[in-house]
Amino acid sequence: MQFSTGIFLFRHDLRLTDNFAFQRLSERCERMLCVYVIQDDWLAPNRYGCQSLGTHRQRFLAQSLHDLNLRLQQEAQCLLVKKGDVLSILGELFTATKPDIIALNQHCGWNEQVTEKKITQLCVTHQVELILSHEASLIDPQQMPFKVQELPDVFSLFRRKVEKSNYLRSPLPIPSAIPPKLLDFDYASGVDLSIALGVDQLLAPSHSLARFIGGETCAMRQLDFYLFDSDLIANYKHTRNQMDGWEFSSKLSAWLANGCISPATVSSKIAQYEQSVVANESTYWLIFELLWREFFHLQAFKQGKKLFSLRGIQNNQPSFVHDQQRFRQWCDGKTGYPIVDASMRQLNATGFMSNRGRQLVASCFVHELNLQWRYGAAYFEQQLIDYDVASNWGNWQYLAGVGSDPRGHRQFNLAKQTEIYDPNQDFIKQWLVSDTDDNEQCN
Ligand code: FAD
Repeated sequence: MQFSTGIFLFRHDLRLTDNFAFQRLSERCERMLCVYVIQDDWLAPNRYGCQSLGTHRQRFLAQSLHDLNLRLQQEAQCLLVKKGDVLSILGELFTATKPDIIALNQHCGWNEQVTEKKITQLCVTHQVELILSHEASLIDPQQMPFKVQELPDVFSLFRRKVEKSNYLRSPLPIPSAIPPKLLDFDYASGVDLSIALGVDQLLAPSHSLARFIGGETCAMRQLDFYLFDSDLIANYKHTRNQMDGWEFSSKLSAWLANGCISPATVSSKIAQYEQSVVANESTYWLIFELLWREFFHLQAFKQGKKLFSLRGIQNNQPSFVHDQQRFRQWCDGKTGYPIVDASMRQLNATGFMSNRGRQLVASCFVHELNLQWRYGAAYFEQQLIDYDVASNWGNWQYLAGVGSDPRGHRQFNLAKQTEIYDPNQDFIKQWLVSDTDDNEQCN
């Protein structure tokens, strides 16, 4: 052991398996403090009048932290949850615990990158060693054919280059020995999860997508369910465009977004499935979709702040006449376009919307309602249980014609799409008959 006291800062990596920085710190210190900070600004209205961390994600996050704490307790560890500003809290913890080393994983989000720079500074000031590991990727960094700044802005170019090599990374196991808790530290100084994130957040909701329960334990269970227990993956390519239900797609997004599972853990399980059960176009297609996620994450690293700029990565001025009332109608599922309204009401009630639904409501937002795309992205950020900064803002840019779409204009014919994806209007009927009153409001 090189160091006596270490701090591990969990962020979007709420798991013990395949966690680089956690593994490296575990190998290097005698005692360790594991901490997570709920940032005050996640719960305040942002410039678009939306809250970054909406109620669906609050519940999922609370469940994920609860599960992480249980898993750590099995290893004679525990999770300290704090609420406030991450830098001030780290400063206080540095003073209280006098650590020799701190570890965290990088993340592609712009705010996270800014925080990483400030933590680096804080470590210099306090003379604390820093481990800042790469974000857990799907692709083996050794096999990456380009540096981030040379990343193609078009997905197909990226995919073709990557697929030329044996590019998938093997996940790391849980560290064989996790250092124990700190002695003489007041662990009761942490916050209560239910209070910090609102009451009853650990209770499962009662809607049709109630199987989104946060944490590594449920993430692993869902992966097994979708692959080995149900064989649903073997038909994924043919079902993935459906609009409703638990079984048409993997539903791994919420766990991936919170880091309850890593993309490499998913891909290695798919490889096992391919070896022992079947390898077909559907099993390949799930990896293909994970490559989209990887592409957007790398783009977020490359583009930095541009991910949120109105003109996008193409520096293309979009045309719009933003109208607050029309925006509200879209949020509430009251635009008059049935397929869009049904999808938005499903989102408001459950925190989830199919990929097809997301494309249709975003296309309607930009082309039919002529609204400013960043408001739509911000509302998704608030409502989606699987909100992931790179995938969300990257997909919105794409659909708004300012992102990585080489076609530059993608308007869906909503009537035609309804005929194809909801021919009997079952989905529409299900969500339009009951006027849900639990919509979360943007201010
Ligand atoms: P599956 O179809 O089972 O796919 C497996 C995994 O591949 C997903 O979990 C996800 O990690 C990844 N994936 C699939 N499609 C995409 C895609 N188009 N872009 C990036 N990754 C993808 N996905 C998010 O995880 N978070 C978001 O905030 C998000 N916002 C979106 C906003 C818009 C406007 C659009 C059009 C898409 C967005 N997506 C987002 C992508 C996609 O809709 C979801 O990942 C998918 O619907 C989640 O369901 P699933 O896990 O069952 O996906």
